Amino acid sequence: MMDDLRELYQTTILDHNKKPRNFRVPDGPSHEADGFNPLCGDKVTVYLQVQDGRVIDASFQGSGCAISTASASMMTEAIKGAPVKEALSLFESFHDLVTGPAMDAPETEGVGKLAVFAGVREFPMRVKCATLAWHTLKSALENGGETAKTE
Ligand code: ZN
Repeated sequence: MMDDLRELYQTTILDHNKKPRNFRVPDGPSHEADGFNPLCGDKVTVYLQVQDGRVIDASFQGSGCAISTASASMMTEAIKGAPVKEALSLFESFHDLVTGPAMDAPETEGVGKLAVFAGVREFPMRVKCATLAWHTLKSALENGGETAKTE
């Protein structure tokens, strides 16, 4: 299981880093926030269009390492069309997934394709890269604009 995930992790990260999905600045987003991970230098801006309690559009811009870019790309795919509540609970699930003990079998139920990021828990320095976009999403939804920090 972990070996399959590890391989999938590498190919998925490479693919999303090369061709990030939803990498654009939308017209008049209802929510947006900036995120910065000083440990790695990753920067991201997350844009959302929220209507009737649902994330109808999600996109991002930024520059950073492959993991931060791939994570932001996959996050926008995962939350697009989801109720805000679900997007926030996915933040919690994703956070648990990447910060769990490396020895434990990761809890991948309910996170879909994001399960590949379970591999990150073996590289503690990379956890902040993987969670940056998610912290920024949370900040956009809850504060509507302050800079999210991974600290
Ligand atoms: Zn990084």
